[in-house]
Amino acid sequence: MDLKDLYREVILDHNRSPRNFGRLDPADADATGHNPLCGDRLHLTLRLDGDRISDLAFDGQGCAISVASASLMTEAVKGQSRGEFSVLYQDMHRLLTEAEFHPAHDLGKLMALGGVREFPARVKCASLCWHTLDAALKQNDAANATGGTTISTE
Ligand code: ZN
Repeated sequence: MDLKDLYREVILDHNRSPRNFGRLDPADADATGHNPLCGDRLHLTLRLDGDRISDLAFDGQGCAISVASASLMTEAVKGQSRGEFSVLYQDMHRLLTEAEFHPAHDLGKLMALGGVREFPARVKCASLCWHTLDAALKQNDAANATGGTTISTE
């Protein structure tokens, strides 16, 4: 099995059985992300323990890439500090957009998402959940008790 097949298998697996699918109730922060180009809509809930993302879950509807990306993201960032997430967020942005990017940190299964670079229309599908999590954390920073940030990648 070559790397491309392996990556395809990771995407298919996470689309078929998304990890951390659902909603946390209560949650410390939440946000909705919408990618109008494809119709992907994801809702993210998270719990924070001090500086750490102690738990997170997503639900919603989207294409295989957007669902697989969200599923992979929840596995990768659970337990991370905000600082760790912010480094990973930047790495993922580069992975999805730069052909010659070689990450300094081991991105593990997230590397499977690098394949979308060849399909520019799908980059927003893969990045939607990352922007949504970033928005949820910023919303929590702002201590905005009204809850529910909605972002659009348009
Ligand atoms: Zn999509």
